[in-house]
Amino acid sequence: MEIQSLASGSSGNAYIIKNRGRSLLLDAGLSGRRIFACLKAAAVDPAEITGILLSHEHNDHISGAGILSRRLQIPLYLTAGTWLGSREKLGPIPEDRINLISPGTAFTVNDLEIWPLPASHDAIEPVNYLFNTGLSRGAVITDTGCVSEGVLRTLAACAALVLEANHDEEMLRSGPYPRSLKARVAGVKGHLSNRQAARLLLELAGGGRVNRVHLGHLSVVNNSQEIALATVTAHLAAAGMEGEPIYHNLTALPRHWPGPVLQVK
Ligand SMILES: [Zn+2]
Ligand SMILES: [Zn+2]
Repeated sequence: MEIQSLASGSSGNAYIIKNRGRSLLLDAGLSGRRIFACLKAAAVDPAEITGILLSHEHNDHISGAGILSRRLQIPLYLTAGTWLGSREKLGPIPEDRINLISPGTAFTVNDLEIWPLPASHDAIEPVNYLFNTGLSRGAVITDTGCVSEGVLRTLAACAALVLEANHDEEMLRSGPYPRSLKARVAGVKGHLSNRQAARLLLELAGGGRVNRVHLGHLSVVNNSQEIALATVTAHLAAAGMEGEPIYHNLTALPRHWPGPVLQVK
């Protein structure tokens, strides 16, 4: 299985989850035109995409989902809450292309067992997704203000992760956002900071299974690829993990164009 970001951040999110020659789109938060351009740049044939998974109803995750579903004639997978929050913005979708899913209940598409995991975010019924080929597992964890013990235990079985590193805590504190937005971003229903991502990886690394991580959903105002990477590597180094695979297989994803392929094995 391979996971590739087409775009990652508050200006738009979309990931390709590829398994055995078929792909799923996870979120489609860019215009249809941008998504097709990113697919071309990433050398992904749109014809291999068999469905679109949505994490939650915020625009940066769904703005192109209706167009893509209509254009490629492919189904959507989303929670009832996300459907409620997004149906007007998605436009007309035939009922038989809407698949309602529940946090904690697995389903199978493209030979992948897919687990929607509850996220902690200011949306109606947000989820993150874990993918299991039967041989290896990977997950995309973004738009969550914290990660529960239960989800953490589930993630410990993953070989590779896209993990949110939204903001540098000090940059957010001293930056230009209004106070209410600062509180929202830093809150338990906001976004994971660089430091939270680092601490989460330290906990996961103890199990030794996670060996590749792409940091994603970076804030344009309160973070940079360099700062996110520096914060996480500093935490790993301080814990004596410079020799571990995870230390050397760490990347911060670009906001507007495809990132490198994350091999899940
Ligand atoms: Zn988002
Ligand atoms: Zn969001």
